[in-house]
Amino acid sequence: MASAGEIPRRRRQTKLIDMLHLHPLLQSWWQQLGSFCCANCNHSWQPFSSAAVIDDLSNRVNGNQVVMILSRTSAEMPTDELLMQGLTRYYLDGTLHRIEDVGDTLAAGSWLLHDRFKGLTNHLQRAAEGLNAAHSLEARVAVVVEDDFAEYQVDDYCAECHLSHDSSNLRLRLLGDNNWHDLLGAPLSEWGKLLDNQDKSAAARLVRFAIECGLHHLQVDRQLATLSLGEARRIELLTWISQSRSGQTLVFDEPGIGL
Ligand SMILES: [Zn+2]
Repeated sequence: MASAGEIPRRRRQTKLIDMLHLHPLLQSWWQQLGSFCCANCNHSWQPFSSAAVIDDLSNRVNGNQVVMILSRTSAEMPTDELLMQGLTRYYLDGTLHRIEDVGDTLAAGSWLLHDRFKGLTNHLQRAAEGLNAAHSLEARVAVVVEDDFAEYQVDDYCAECHLSHDSSNLRLRLLGDNNWHDLLGAPLSEWGKLLDNQDKSAAARLVRFAIECGLHHLQVDRQLATLSLGEARRIELLTWISQSRSGQTLVFDEPGIGL
Protein backbone atom coordinates (compact mmCIF):
# COMPACT_ATOMS: atom_id res chain seq x y z
CA MET A 1 0.00 0.00 0.00
CA ALA A 2 1.57 3.25 -1.12
CA SER A 3 0.67 6.47 0.60
CA ALA A 4 -0.21 9.56 -1.37
CA GLY A 5 1.45 12.90 -1.05
CA GLU A 6 4.99 13.47 0.11
CA ILE A 7 8.02 11.28 -0.46
CA PRO A 8 8.69 9.16 2.63
CA ARG A 9 11.47 10.67 4.71
CA ARG A 10 13.76 7.62 4.39
CA ARG A 11 13.71 7.94 0.59
CA ARG A 12 14.33 11.66 0.24
CA GLN A 13 18.10 11.31 -0.16
CA THR A 14 17.72 8.43 -2.62
CA LYS A 15 18.98 9.20 -6.10
CA LEU A 16 16.92 8.37 -9.16
CA ILE A 17 19.55 5.94 -10.41
CA ASP A 18 19.10 3.90 -7.22
CA MET A 19 15.36 4.35 -7.00
CA LEU A 20 14.95 3.04 -10.56
CA HIS A 21 17.69 0.37 -10.12
CA LEU A 22 19.55 1.51 -13.25
CA HIS A 23 23.04 0.20 -12.39
CA PRO A 24 22.58 -3.10 -14.26
CA LEU A 25 22.21 -1.05 -17.46
CA LEU A 26 25.69 0.42 -16.98
CA GLN A 27 27.09 -3.06 -16.47
CA SER A 28 25.52 -4.46 -19.61
CA TRP A 29 26.61 -1.42 -21.66
CA TRP A 30 30.12 -1.85 -20.25
CA GLN A 31 30.23 -5.41 -21.55
CA GLN A 32 29.04 -4.41 -25.01
CA LEU A 33 30.61 -0.99 -25.52
CA GLY A 34 33.16 -0.48 -22.76
CA SER A 35 36.63 0.83 -23.38
CA PHE A 36 39.27 2.79 -21.50
CA CYS A 37 40.79 6.05 -22.62
CA CYS A 38 43.97 7.72 -21.38
CA ALA A 39 43.29 11.32 -20.40
CA ASN A 40 46.96 12.08 -20.96
CA CYS A 41 47.44 10.88 -24.54
CA ASN A 42 43.96 9.88 -25.74
CA HIS A 43 45.00 6.29 -26.44
CA SER A 44 42.00 3.99 -25.96
CA TRP A 45 41.83 0.27 -25.34
CA GLN A 46 39.47 -2.59 -24.58
CA PRO A 47 39.14 -4.01 -21.05
CA PHE A 48 41.54 -6.89 -20.44
CA SER A 49 40.15 -10.24 -21.50
CA SER A 50 42.02 -13.53 -21.13
CA ALA A 51 39.98 -14.86 -24.08
CA ALA A 52 41.36 -12.12 -26.34
CA VAL A 53 44.95 -12.86 -25.23
CA ILE A 54 44.45 -16.58 -25.84
CA ASP A 55 43.09 -15.73 -29.27
CA ASP A 56 46.30 -13.89 -30.02
CA LEU A 57 48.40 -16.71 -28.52
CA SER A 58 46.81 -19.22 -30.86
CA ASN A 59 48.56 -17.30 -33.65
CA ARG A 60 51.86 -17.08 -31.79
CA VAL A 61 52.03 -20.68 -30.59
CA ASN A 62 52.20 -23.34 -33.27
CA GLY A 63 53.45 -26.62 -31.90
CA ASN A 64 55.20 -27.37 -28.66
CA GLN A 65 56.85 -24.09 -27.83
CA VAL A 66 57.35 -23.10 -24.21
CA VAL A 67 54.74 -20.57 -23.06
CA MET A 68 55.34 -18.43 -19.96
CA ILE A 69 52.71 -16.19 -18.38
CA LEU A 70 54.13 -13.19 -16.52
CA SER A 71 52.98 -10.21 -14.50
CA ARG A 72 55.09 -7.20 -13.60
CA THR A 73 55.54 -6.06 -10.00
CA SER A 74 54.67 -2.39 -9.58
CA ALA A 75 56.36 -2.13 -6.19
CA GLU A 76 59.12 -3.86 -4.24
CA MET A 77 57.74 -7.19 -2.98
CA PRO A 78 58.77 -9.24 0.08
CA THR A 79 60.06 -12.54 -1.29
CA ASP A 80 58.49 -14.65 1.46
CA GLU A 81 55.07 -13.25 0.52
CA LEU A 82 55.63 -14.19 -3.12
CA LEU A 83 56.80 -17.68 -2.20
CA MET A 84 53.71 -18.14 -0.03
CA GLN A 85 51.58 -17.32 -3.06
CA GLY A 86 53.36 -20.10 -4.93
CA LEU A 87 55.35 -17.69 -7.09
CA THR A 88 58.91 -19.02 -7.21
CA ARG A 89 60.50 -17.64 -10.40
CA TYR A 90 60.91 -14.34 -12.19
CA TYR A 91 61.90 -13.65 -15.77
CA LEU A 92 64.86 -11.43 -16.63
CA ASP A 93 67.03 -11.11 -19.75
CA GLY A 94 65.46 -14.10 -21.44
CA THR A 95 65.79 -16.54 -18.55
CA LEU A 96 64.03 -17.55 -15.37
CA HIS A 97 65.60 -16.88 -11.98
CA ARG A 98 64.74 -18.20 -8.52
CA ILE A 99 62.97 -15.68 -6.30
CA GLU A 100 64.48 -17.22 -3.15
CA ASP A 101 67.95 -16.23 -4.40
CA VAL A 102 67.32 -12.47 -4.42
CA GLY A 103 67.22 -11.82 -0.66
CA ASP A 104 64.35 -10.25 1.28
CA THR A 105 62.70 -8.28 -1.49
CA LEU A 106 62.22 -8.54 -5.21
CA ALA A 107 62.70 -5.25 -7.05
CA ALA A 108 59.79 -3.31 -8.53
CA GLY A 109 59.42 -3.92 -12.25
CA SER A 110 60.26 -7.64 -12.06
CA TRP A 111 58.32 -10.05 -14.24
CA LEU A 112 56.81 -12.81 -12.07
CA LEU A 113 56.20 -16.23 -13.57
CA HIS A 114 52.60 -17.46 -13.08
CA ASP A 115 52.67 -20.57 -15.22
CA ARG A 116 54.79 -22.32 -17.82
CA PHE A 117 53.73 -25.07 -20.21
CA LYS A 118 54.46 -26.46 -23.66
CA GLY A 119 52.04 -25.88 -26.50
CA LEU A 120 48.67 -24.21 -26.18
CA THR A 121 45.93 -26.51 -27.44
CA ASN A 122 46.18 -28.88 -24.45
CA HIS A 123 46.56 -26.05 -21.97
CA LEU A 124 43.79 -23.61 -22.78
CA GLN A 125 42.36 -23.87 -19.27
CA ARG A 126 45.76 -23.31 -17.66
CA ALA A 127 46.43 -20.38 -19.95
CA ALA A 128 43.14 -18.74 -18.93
CA GLU A 129 43.78 -19.37 -15.24
CA GLY A 130 47.35 -18.09 -15.44
CA LEU A 131 46.30 -14.96 -17.30
CA ASN A 132 43.50 -14.26 -14.85
CA ALA A 133 45.85 -14.77 -11.90
CA ALA A 134 48.40 -12.40 -13.48
CA HIS A 135 45.73 -9.84 -14.23
CA SER A 136 44.19 -10.09 -10.75
CA LEU A 137 47.35 -8.51 -9.32
CA GLU A 138 46.36 -5.36 -11.21
CA ALA A 139 49.71 -5.53 -12.89
CA ARG A 140 51.02 -5.47 -16.42
CA VAL A 141 50.77 -8.85 -18.15
CA ALA A 142 53.12 -10.42 -20.68
CA VAL A 143 53.42 -13.82 -22.35
CA VAL A 144 56.73 -15.25 -23.57
CA VAL A 145 56.57 -17.80 -26.37
CA GLU A 146 60.06 -19.37 -26.58
CA ASP A 147 62.16 -16.18 -26.72
CA ASP A 148 59.44 -13.90 -28.02
CA PHE A 149 58.26 -11.51 -25.27
CA ALA A 150 54.98 -9.69 -25.84
CA GLU A 151 53.15 -7.46 -23.40
CA TYR A 152 49.35 -7.28 -23.44
CA GLN A 153 47.27 -4.22 -22.76
CA VAL A 154 45.81 -4.25 -19.26
CA ASP A 155 43.19 -1.97 -17.74
CA ASP A 156 45.47 0.07 -15.49
CA TYR A 157 48.35 0.96 -17.74
CA CYS A 158 48.55 3.05 -20.89
CA ALA A 159 50.74 1.21 -23.38
CA GLU A 160 51.11 4.38 -25.43
CA CYS A 161 52.49 6.93 -22.95
CA HIS A 162 53.46 4.36 -20.27
CA LEU A 163 51.53 5.96 -17.46
CA SER A 164 50.18 3.75 -14.75
CA HIS A 165 46.53 4.50 -14.09
CA ASP A 166 45.99 2.53 -10.92
CA SER A 167 46.21 5.44 -8.52
CA SER A 168 45.16 8.30 -10.76
CA ASN A 169 42.09 9.50 -12.55
CA LEU A 170 43.89 9.41 -15.87
CA ARG A 171 41.88 6.45 -17.02
CA LEU A 172 38.48 7.32 -18.41
CA ARG A 173 35.84 4.67 -18.84
CA LEU A 174 33.90 5.04 -22.05
CA LEU A 175 30.61 3.51 -23.11
CA GLY A 176 30.66 4.05 -26.84
CA ASP A 177 31.13 7.82 -27.15
CA ASN A 178 29.91 8.47 -23.62
CA ASN A 179 32.01 8.92 -20.55
CA TRP A 180 30.80 6.55 -17.79
CA HIS A 181 31.27 9.23 -15.15
CA ASP A 182 29.26 11.81 -17.12
CA LEU A 183 26.40 9.35 -17.55
CA LEU A 184 26.05 9.17 -13.77
CA GLY A 185 24.87 12.78 -13.88
CA ALA A 186 23.16 12.75 -17.29
CA PRO A 187 19.43 13.17 -17.92
CA LEU A 188 17.31 10.11 -18.63
CA SER A 189 17.10 11.15 -22.30
CA GLU A 190 20.86 10.42 -22.66
CA TRP A 191 20.33 6.99 -21.14
CA GLY A 192 17.47 6.45 -23.57
CA LYS A 193 19.80 7.05 -26.53
CA LEU A 194 22.08 4.23 -25.38
CA LEU A 195 19.23 1.75 -24.96
CA ASP A 196 19.20 -1.26 -27.22
CA ASN A 197 15.69 -1.83 -28.66
CA GLN A 198 16.06 -5.52 -27.82
CA ASP A 199 16.77 -4.81 -24.17
CA LYS A 200 13.68 -5.90 -22.24
CA SER A 201 15.28 -5.76 -18.79
CA ALA A 202 13.45 -4.06 -15.95
CA ALA A 203 15.86 -1.13 -15.95
CA ALA A 204 15.53 -0.61 -19.71
CA ARG A 205 11.74 -0.66 -19.48
CA LEU A 206 11.79 1.88 -16.68
CA VAL A 207 13.98 4.30 -18.64
CA ARG A 208 11.68 4.07 -21.69
CA PHE A 209 8.63 4.45 -19.49
CA ALA A 210 10.06 7.47 -17.66
CA ILE A 211 10.88 9.19 -20.96
CA GLU A 212 7.38 8.52 -22.27
CA CYS A 213 5.97 10.02 -19.08
CA GLY A 214 7.78 13.29 -19.76
CA LEU A 215 10.62 12.72 -17.28
CA HIS A 216 13.39 12.71 -19.94
CA HIS A 217 14.96 15.88 -18.50
CA LEU A 218 15.64 14.43 -15.04
CA GLN A 219 19.30 13.76 -14.27
CA VAL A 220 19.79 10.32 -12.76
CA ASP A 221 21.77 11.68 -9.82
CA ARG A 222 18.85 13.87 -8.69
CA GLN A 223 17.70 13.12 -5.18
CA LEU A 224 13.99 12.46 -4.80
CA ALA A 225 13.68 15.38 -2.38
CA THR A 226 14.71 17.79 -5.18
CA LEU A 227 11.94 16.69 -7.54
CA SER A 228 8.67 18.53 -7.90
CA LEU A 229 5.69 16.76 -6.40
CA GLY A 230 4.44 15.83 -9.85
CA GLU A 231 7.79 14.37 -10.91
CA ALA A 232 8.14 12.44 -7.68
CA ARG A 233 4.64 11.01 -8.02
CA ARG A 234 5.31 9.86 -11.58
CA ILE A 235 8.56 8.18 -10.48
CA GLU A 236 6.68 6.50 -7.64
CA LEU A 237 3.96 5.25 -10.00
CA LEU A 238 6.57 4.03 -12.49
CA THR A 239 8.35 1.92 -9.91
CA TRP A 240 5.05 0.40 -8.79
CA ILE A 241 4.00 -0.39 -12.33
CA SER A 242 7.40 -1.82 -13.26
CA GLN A 243 7.28 -4.18 -10.31
CA SER A 244 3.89 -5.56 -11.29
CA ARG A 245 3.66 -8.97 -12.91
CA SER A 246 1.37 -9.84 -15.78
CA GLY A 247 -2.07 -10.82 -14.58
CA GLN A 248 -1.64 -8.67 -11.48
CA THR A 249 -4.04 -5.78 -10.91
CA LEU A 250 -2.77 -2.60 -9.30
CA VAL A 251 -5.26 -0.34 -7.57
CA PHE A 252 -4.27 3.31 -7.15
CA ASP A 253 -6.30 5.66 -5.01
CA GLU A 254 -6.21 9.12 -6.59
CA PRO A 255 -2.83 8.64 -8.26
CA GLY A 256 -3.23 11.93 -10.14
CA ILE A 257 -2.82 14.07 -7.01
CA GLY A 258 -0.05 16.55 -7.63
CA LEU A 259 0.22 15.80 -11.34
ZN1 LIG B 1 48.44 7.48 -22.37
